[in-house]
Amino acid sequence: MHLDTERDPDGGWYDRFVHLVDEDGRVVEELGKHPTLDELREAERQYGDRLNLWQQGLVCKECGNQITDRFSARPDGHLLCWDCASSEDGEEKGGLTVNVDPTKTVLSESKLNEKSLCDYVINVATGCRHGCKFCYVPSTPAIDSRDEMLGEKAGVEDPQRDWGDYLLYRDDLPERVHEGLQNTDFEKEWKVTRRGRGVVMLSSGTDCYQDRRAAQITRGCVRELVEADIPVRILSRSPNLTRDIDLFQEADGLVAVGTSIPSFDASLVDALEPNAPPPMARWEALDELFRAGVPRFVSFSPTYPTMDRDEIREALSWFAAVDPDVVFHEPMNPRGANFDMCLKATREAGYNDVAEELERIHDHGEWTRYAIEHIELVREIAKEQFSGLHIHSWPDRKLIDAASRNKEQRLNRLRQEASPEPFTQAGQF
Ligand code: SF4
Ligand SMILES: [Zn+2]
Repeated sequence: MHLDTERDPDGGWYDRFVHLVDEDGRVVEELGKHPTLDELREAERQYGDRLNLWQQGLVCKECGNQITDRFSARPDGHLLCWDCASSEDGEEKGGLTVNVDPTKTVLSESKLNEKSLCDYVINVATGCRHGCKFCYVPSTPAIDSRDEMLGEKAGVEDPQRDWGDYLLYRDDLPERVHEGLQNTDFEKEWKVTRRGRGVVMLSSGTDCYQDRRAAQITRGCVRELVEADIPVRILSRSPNLTRDIDLFQEADGLVAVGTSIPSFDASLVDALEPNAPPPMARWEALDELFRAGVPRFVSFSPTYPTMDRDEIREALSWFAAVDPDVVFHEPMNPRGANFDMCLKATREAGYNDVAEELERIHDHGEWTRYAIEHIELVREIAKEQFSGLHIHSWPDRKLIDAASRNKEQRLNRLRQEASPEPFTQAGQF
């Protein structure tokens, strides 16, 4: 599948009609003069193929130059060459400022192999519209050290405080992933650790299905990775991810898809994850994946200190109903400025009991007790009542250091485990 462009004899030199053409040279769709990025990506989805938009004779809507490498789009979807895209001002919509992301990074090595999640990550955007209060991303160098760029592109004054209000897309990532993979010598260059297993995760620093534009970038990247036989993990809070079930099924076990559900208390989740879809909508997406036979996982993270045995049992029973390969579990970690934001959000939402518990675990000793208790409780309930539900705990290194000697050994063992997911067996590693 490729695009064919034909000059409009009555227009300027850049006035071209764009057609989608199949392998036999037949026009399968007329896309008009200036198809938007959205229309082009949707055509890819509809025809189950990927177009390399770098070499299709498309022109920039702003300057009329032909697009030959990096590109992006305006919020209205019109294609822009990189020079024009880079000089666009951010546009505000409903409190969210969007723009294009100038970063050159395609694939980054990741330490998330320590959590048995992946060896690499691809972030389809900078920023995240969900704006979860406990999110650690804005305190990482990927955001923290780029405050100048964020100020310029999206008027961000404080990347941490404004988290959830800015989103910069990487529209041409599928093309760049394609190129990057073609130039990779997998035997020599590809990192494959015991716990990361050469998996690429989308995304650790944003939600890769948070909206249609992000989802389109994600789909293109996943297709490229699967074609190169690379195992992929998708983690998203957005039920949007079910739009790509066809792709996940075609990947034949190479893609594992999961969502984070810290609790089924919708209003508490809403207080801490103000713009993310409610937990039951996430569970319904898992259920669809289950019924479609797509490998799936749950991230039960972070569990709030007010959760007791009954609430944990109830959450696990929902998870067991969709038979995931694994449930990752992590207690809350009172670190950095995010913690104060969580405290404030729970107070404002009227969850004084949660706020009090959060204040209590600010004390290191209290936190250690709560975190170890939750890790053990989740494992114990799963073992006693949900046989077949595999829990993979994520004990923090600081927690292990603070634990008593026999607990330290046990937690360390848990930390060293590899998740039981089978998906990598199908891949090239
Ligand atoms: S969805 Fe993930 S990346 Fe986005 S704000 Fe929430 S925790 Fe952070
Ligand atoms: Zn241009």
